[in-house]
Amino acid sequence: MQYIWYNAQDNYFYENDSKHFDGLAINAHILAHNAKAFLALELELRKPFFILPDVHFLQLYSPQQFDNQKGGIRISWEKLRAYYPKVVSKILDEQRALSVNDLASKEALEEFVFKILDFQRSALAAPFQSLGRLLPENARLPRSSFLIAPYFYFGGVTDPWYNVAINACVTATALKGTDKMYGLIFCATSCLNPQEIATICSGFSRANLDGFLIWIDEFDESVASEEELAGMLDLVRTLSSYGKPVINLYGGYFSVMLKHFGLDGFGSGICVRDKMPARPPAPMGGPAGGPVPRYYVPQVHRKFVQEDARRLIGQLPILSCNCEICSSAQVLTMPNQLPAERAYLRRLMRRHFLRIRSQEVKAVNSEAPGQTIGNIQSAATLVSGPAATVYELYFLNRWHDVLSSNLAT
Ligand SMILES: [Zn+2]
Repeated sequence: MQYIWYNAQDNYFYENDSKHFDGLAINAHILAHNAKAFLALELELRKPFFILPDVHFLQLYSPQQFDNQKGGIRISWEKLRAYYPKVVSKILDEQRALSVNDLASKEALEEFVFKILDFQRSALAAPFQSLGRLLPENARLPRSSFLIAPYFYFGGVTDPWYNVAINACVTATALKGTDKMYGLIFCATSCLNPQEIATICSGFSRANLDGFLIWIDEFDESVASEEELAGMLDLVRTLSSYGKPVINLYGGYFSVMLKHFGLDGFGSGICVRDKMPARPPAPMGGPAGGPVPRYYVPQVHRKFVQEDARRLIGQLPILSCNCEICSSAQVLTMPNQLPAERAYLRRLMRRHFLRIRSQEVKAVNSEAPGQTIGNIQSAATLVSGPAATVYELYFLNRWHDVLSSNLAT
């Protein structure tokens, strides 16, 4: 199951390409700011969705995330904090990060968990009611597929936040009522070793959750070492052994393939956000016309700037794409200098990405594991030699080695 992270600027794709993804993921502060737009979208699409309650912004506080240019707090956070626990307002006023001490008492943790869950339950209710008579007779309030317990980043199992993270899950499951409660394992790449994975999985499994989410700090599937990739696979496989759904919040094609090892879903943006640092990146303006467009080359499962994609496919024409977008536009050669040209090119490249990604998901879901792994091996062989070096494609070999050695065991 493929979730797309909601972005208010991406409405074009939700309107035109919604059949190419399964569900939506949305950050709480973005939902607080765009509740009506998101509700309207959900009433139309009726896709499964979930809300990430953005606790990491509080734990890994940095002033740029919250301050507007005029000495106040960004409007999205101003809206969200009206729903959030008292301690959130307190730390924002004091301009500091949430600390373990803030949640040390049972009462403080319970209030925190209750409010964070309450926002996920009620965020769409107010805009839904205000639409009132404008709604069709049989319209139902869209509900998130599951709630996410407050989560905290930990650098290892001896980090004091590790226990807070588990206690928050335990507290949340006690408050779940008729909702499903998922817990997020949110940690450093250094936790991806067999000992810590075993501890983390058994720790979270005691919280009686209905499902598990994974977010490894800045985990880049195409850069990760074989040990790290194997750790990710082990984490997924172990969590899946409890018989509950497992979803990776930010992933790419390696996550698509982890379906064969128990991963039920993953999230990404539209040709962006296939990895995410724990500490939120500073908001920035970026170039006019949007970020540099990137083109996803299907068979090698990696995205490139236009010039590199054109050269690679020029050398290996077998890599060219024949999706409906690429068949009807010269995506690899069209001009990209002016902001408007770049914006148009980026839109085409992202429409191409949505089509390819949904094909990838469908293909892997219908394949036996050996076949998926064989295809990765063929891709690695196809680009072996100079192309693998120039275009940094050795990760295909790492993916293949990790998947095939784990399939055998
Ligand atoms: Zn295409």
